Parts: sequence; C-alpha cells; structure tokens
Amino acid sequence: MTVGRLVQGGEFNLVRSTRSAKQDIEQKYDMINLEEQIKLLVELQGLDSHIFKLEDALCEIPETIKSMEDEFKEKSVGLKNLEDGVKALQVNRKENEVELETKEGVIKKYQSQLYQVKTNKEYTALQEEIGRVRADNSLIEEAIIKILDQIDDENKKIAQEKESLKQKEIKLNEEKKALKEEEARLKTELEDIGKKRAALVPAVDKGILAKYEKIVRNRDGLAVVAVRNDSCQGCFRVMPPQVINEMKMKKDIVMCDYCARILYIEE
Ligand SMILES: [Zn+2]
Repeated sequence: MTVGRLVQGGEFNLVRSTRSAKQDIEQKYDMINLEEQIKLLVELQGLDSHIFKLEDALCEIPETIKSMEDEFKEKSVGLKNLEDGVKALQVNRKENEVELETKEGVIKKYQSQLYQVKTNKEYTALQEEIGRVRADNSLIEEAIIKILDQIDDENKKIAQEKESLKQKEIKLNEEKKALKEEEARLKTELEDIGKKRAALVPAVDKGILAKYEKIVRNRDGLAVVAVRNDSCQGCFRVMPPQVINEMKMKKDIVMCDYCARILYIEE
C-alpha cells in the first residue's frame, strides 16, 4: 500500500467517524429495495446526463447562428466600402468634367476674342493664355482617364465581391437550415427523454431522489458514478476496501467521501 493510499484511507475513516446514527440510516432504508433504487438512480443519471448534453447543444445553436451571421455582415461591410469608394470616384470624375467643360468655354471665349484684338502683343498674349488653359485641360483629361480606370478596377472587385457574397449567403442559409433542423431534432429527443425521466422518477424513493438532485446541482450534473478498479469514476480517487465492502452489502447508499457522489458497482 502506498503512502498516498494510507493517507486517503485515514481521511476516509475520519469522515466516516463523523457520520452518526448509522443504524437510523439502515432502518430508513429497510423498507426500500436499495439494489433496485441504485439501478433506478443509474438509469436516472444516464437520462439526466443525456438531457444536460442536449440542453448544452441546444444553447450552442443560436450562438453559432449569431456568429455566422455576424461574420457575414462583416463581409457585407467590405462590399459597402468598395461601393462607397466608387461613388467617391464618380463624384471626383464629375468635378473634373465640370472643370474641363468650364475651361473649354474659356478657350472658346478667348478664341472669339482673337478676332477683336487690335495689337500683335494682345494677340500673342491671348494665344499664350489659350495654350496655358489647353495644357491644364490635358492634365484634367489625363486625370479623368485615370479615374475611369480606377472605377473600372473597383467595379470588377465589386462584381467579384458580390458573387462571393452571394455564394457565402447561400452557404450561410444552408448551414442555418441544417442547424434549425438539428435544433428541432434535439428538441424532440429532449422531449422523449423528458418523458422517460418523468416515467422513471415516481419509482425513486423521495428521500433518495432529493439527495440525488442536490448532488446533481452541486456536482456539475454528475451525481451517480461507478466504482471501477476500486476508483470512484467521479473524482478518480481510490476507494478504501471498506467502502467497496459496504457497496457490496447494498444496505446503504454509499457516497464517495472525496467528491460526495453516490457510488455503485458495475455488474
Ligand atoms: Zn469521488
């Protein structure tokens, strides 16, 4: 025997010694078929564990759907930004076109003035002015071409993004549909198990049931555990031989002194 076991055994005896009126307990369970009660508890625990698992899975489904929708919305924002970018480019293009038009008007005005000037000097000055405005206009035209190219590129990106979003939306809807179906299936399963539980519970002694339910609440939904290879399957500590013997006698509900769960031996 290892030191660890000695220590554990010692602890166990200490806890056991604090348990008073053991005879009362035995008397209490005299009227009950304890072997049957334990079997019922094992069955009840099986149903409850299944119920908790289903409830967890059911809670997760709306969360999964929400995060999928959020992710999709984020991607839609990307498209919106691209579209806003194109709108800004269109505004910029329009401004440039208006400026170009205005300057074309100026050139026309100067050209008509060419026929009215009196001196060569004035004529040359106007010609120079016309040349300057034309140079400006060619810069504006270049800018417009550049903007048009950008708009083209951005529109291509938008088309790609739209197609990609369309595919993602189809996929999202398919996944949502599958999850909704899964949700309905889990709910039906939960209902069925709930019915089984309701049918089982009346056979369990009220006192034992109350004890079981208290442990379930306090011990992460696990109140009844097997002892396998002398170990409690709730906390995995080794049980002293006297606990094993007590379980075999089936005169009392035997609990693990470490994790306070109800123990049973698998047969
Ligand atoms: Zn334990």
